[in-house]
Amino acid sequence: MTFSNSLINWYLQNKRDLPWRKTTDSYVIWLSEIILQQTRVAQGLPYFESFVSNFPSVFDLANAQEEQVLKLWQGLGYYSRARNLHATAKHVVGELNGVFPTTYDQLIKLKGIGSYTASAIASFSVNENVAVLDGNVFRVLSRYYKVENDLSIASTKKIFQQLANEILPIQDAQTYNQAIMEFGALQCVPKSPNCSICILADSCAALQYKLVHSLPIKSKKIKVTNRYFNYVVFEDLEHKTIVHKRIEKGIWQNLYEFPLVESHAILSESEIVKLIKDRFSSTFKITNYTVLTDFEIIHKLSHQKLHIQFIKVSINAVLFNGVTVNALNKIPFPVVIHNFIERHFS
Ligand code: SF4
Repeated sequence: MTFSNSLINWYLQNKRDLPWRKTTDSYVIWLSEIILQQTRVAQGLPYFESFVSNFPSVFDLANAQEEQVLKLWQGLGYYSRARNLHATAKHVVGELNGVFPTTYDQLIKLKGIGSYTASAIASFSVNENVAVLDGNVFRVLSRYYKVENDLSIASTKKIFQQLANEILPIQDAQTYNQAIMEFGALQCVPKSPNCSICILADSCAALQYKLVHSLPIKSKKIKVTNRYFNYVVFEDLEHKTIVHKRIEKGIWQNLYEFPLVESHAILSESEIVKLIKDRFSSTFKITNYTVLTDFEIIHKLSHQKLHIQFIKVSINAVLFNGVTVNALNKIPFPVVIHNFIERHFS
């Protein structure tokens, strides 16, 4: 039996029952694909269900306020995905009469859709003959065929793409693409796959040459930058606080946060208080500073490690632009700040 037929047979017996596999609607498949980028299925599932029920059609998503989209996305991370999702829905409604594309060539032109996502949507919705390449597929192919090229090098992708195209069974891209990704997610897993029960064990080159644990090769490690966020949680005489939208490019764009004092290192309590005094005491009548040590957090993103602390600053006045605790619940925040609000203000 060929590699692709073996995988399809395995898939038909072992696949998980997932809602986006029960449709060929390219809009719904697109939602699932964007939500599942860099996200585990268990984490993405409730977000998928909430997006489909809040925005059953591309028109509903296009007509939504960006804050509603970001609020529903809250906790999933990589918020540019949500902003692109919204922008693409508007584009499809405004420029394409609300007809969500189904072919690779049309899909690749849309914001937030790269080669993998375009192949996935085109094959799952209309069975277009295009091979997907994602982390799972790289791993399965590199092990089974003993491809020892370094995935950190851009040209390696072409080698895998060529191999993937050669293997792709004509007329069955829909099932085969699902099958190889599912096989990578459930059987040929990154750490210690159970090769003794694998249907491909007899012909797998990595197993034969004892290379299972060293393939795929990815030499370059992601460089992680440390950042130090000191959030100033003002509290006025009416228990109102201040938040504002983060408009600069980079992490958390268009989400809300407390006034931020970023420092170059973790600061002592007296250093933070001095910094806040210098920055804000000419604007506000400050009566007290409390570093909320219970809420010190290290939040890891793909390229950044955020060291976050919250400092409560009491003001002997009523803030002109203050926000009530009830209003905070309706505003989209990064999940670390949302969690802080839930615990601190409840
Ligand atoms: S034998 Fe092991 S390494 Fe080879 S495809 Fe199966 S699970 Fe992956």
